[in-house]
Amino acid sequence: MGVHTAYIGAGSNIGDKLLNCKNGISALTNTQNAVEKAWSRFYKTEPVDYKNQDWFINVVVKVETTLAPFELLKTLKSIERGAGRVDGSIRFGPRVLDLDIILYDDLVTNSSKLIVPHPRMHKRRFVLRPICDIDPTIVHPVLKKEMQALLDVLDKNEQRIVEYRCDY
Ligand code: AMP
Repeated sequence: MGVHTAYIGAGSNIGDKLLNCKNGISALTNTQNAVEKAWSRFYKTEPVDYKNQDWFINVVVKVETTLAPFELLKTLKSIERGAGRVDGSIRFGPRVLDLDIILYDDLVTNSSKLIVPHPRMHKRRFVLRPICDIDPTIVHPVLKKEMQALLDVLDKNEQRIVEYRCDY
């Protein structure tokens, strides 16, 4: 079994976005199969890809988990459904809760249901900025570059994000 380190990205742009993200992570740790080790700050982030929707709240959480990658994915998907997520027809459209596996140890996997590292993480400021709060020196296991280096090369004029200050 063993204990693994995973970075989970949480996002929401419907309802109480901050609470949706926090509750999503609590639901994971409440399963007793994951322990939170570090939280990034929270960010308000401009939608990417499908722009005609409200801004998101995003956060990244480092966890230690005994779950295998696919079990972790199944748990996250079940938490999303429990939060009332109904997938509409718009890819990258509005969602109550999105939970993604960003990294899982140094695992590299590319199956039909699970791709790790998350396939768009290295292009997303809403992932890279928060993960750098936790540890900017994490190395992307495919690109072999640190998170800070990946963040630094993003186009400064795109993907606005601002820290969302809140009482945790
Ligand atoms: P999403 O719209 O972000 O919830 O993702 C939809 C689908 O992406 C899920 O049903 C997963 O099967 C698939 N997927 C592939 N890789 C990942 C990953 N690293 N984390 C989360 N979902 C993933």
